[in-house]
Amino acid sequence: MKQLLLTSRIKSMAKKYAKELFADKRSDFIQPVDGLKNLIIDLQEVNDSLAEKDSYIKYLETIILDYPRLKNLNISKFTTCKRKYDKILEESKLTAKIKYRSADLPSIREERDKLKPVEGVFYEQIVNRMHYKDARLYLAPYMKMLGVQTCVYCNNSEAVYSDGLDEAYYHFDHWLPKDKYPFLCVCFYNLYPCCSNCNGHKLDGKKGSFCLYSKNVPVFDPFVFLIDRSALKNDDAQTLSVLFNARNKVDNDFRNDYNTVFRIEQFYNSPAKKRTCLQLIKLIDKHKGHYLTATDASVPGIADKDELWKEVLGVDENEENIFTDVNKKLKIDTAKDAKLI
Ligand SMILES: [Zn+2]
Repeated sequence: MKQLLLTSRIKSMAKKYAKELFADKRSDFIQPVDGLKNLIIDLQEVNDSLAEKDSYIKYLETIILDYPRLKNLNISKFTTCKRKYDKILEESKLTAKIKYRSADLPSIREERDKLKPVEGVFYEQIVNRMHYKDARLYLAPYMKMLGVQTCVYCNNSEAVYSDGLDEAYYHFDHWLPKDKYPFLCVCFYNLYPCCSNCNGHKLDGKKGSFCLYSKNVPVFDPFVFLIDRSALKNDDAQTLSVLFNARNKVDNDFRNDYNTVFRIEQFYNSPAKKRTCLQLIKLIDKHKGHYLTATDASVPGIADKDELWKEVLGVDENEENIFTDVNKKLKIDTAKDAKLI
C-alpha cells in the first residue's frame, strides 16, 4: 500500500537474515541444499516415467548452486533469475506430480529401495525442502525491527497473530507466488507480512504489481485516502464515505488493479470503519484550530507535534512507515487533508 525505502539498514538486515537462516539448527536438521540433493536422487531412482526428467534435475541443481544468493536476492535480479529458471523448466511443469521418498534419504541404495515413494507436486517439494515455514521464524525479528506490524497490502489488519501461548507470529505472503517462483520461497525480499484477507490475493501479471521496497522516493506512496463528508448528515457515520485514490493520474490503472485484488474501498467503507472515520474527523476538527494557532506550550490545546500524533491520530510519529499501526495511512492522509501535518 505504501512502499518502504530500500535503505542500507534494510539491505544489511537481509544480508544478516541470509547468513543466519538455519545456521543454528541441530545436525539432524536437513539443510535445504541436502533436502534438494535428496530430491534429485528421488528423481533419478523412482521417477522413470517422468517426461523431461533431466530438466527437473537441472532445475534443482541450479537452485542448489544459487541457494546462498537466493536468500537475499536483490529485487532487481528477480526477472532475470526467473527467465533463467523458465529456460531450464517451463513454468507449467512446476505443478507436475513427482514421486519422492524422504528429505532424509539413507546414503545406501538398498536402504533407499526399501522406502515406498509417495506422490507430490514438484514445486511444493522444493518449498518444503527449503523449509519456508521455518524461515518465517528467522524473518519475523527483522520485520519487528523494521516496525512492520500490519498487513503491507491493506494496513487494515495486523500481520502479527498470537498462538495463544504468549508467542506472536507473523503471517507472510509470497509476493511472487511460490508455485511460479519456488526458488524465491525463502527470499527476504519476497516475503511480505500480511493479513489473512490479503494472503493469497495476487497482483501477479497485473500492471503495476505492488513491490514493498522502493529505491526511489517518488513512487513511495502511490495511493491516498480521502474521507468524503459532503453527504454527512446528523453525525451519522454511515453517511460518510472513504475514497481510495491514486495520487497521480498515471497510477490510476495500478490503483484499479490494486483495489480489485485487495478490495480496499470495500474494507474501508465497512460500518465499523466509518465510525472510526467519524471519530477521527471530529478529533481533528476539535484540535485543528488549537494546533494551527498555538505558538508555545502555554496555549491551550495541542501545540506539540508528538502530542498530536499520539492524542489526535493515536499512532506513533514515524510518518514514513505506515505499517507500525493499523489504519495509520488513513489517519495520516486525513490529517494531511486537514492541513494538520
Ligand atoms: Zn491485508
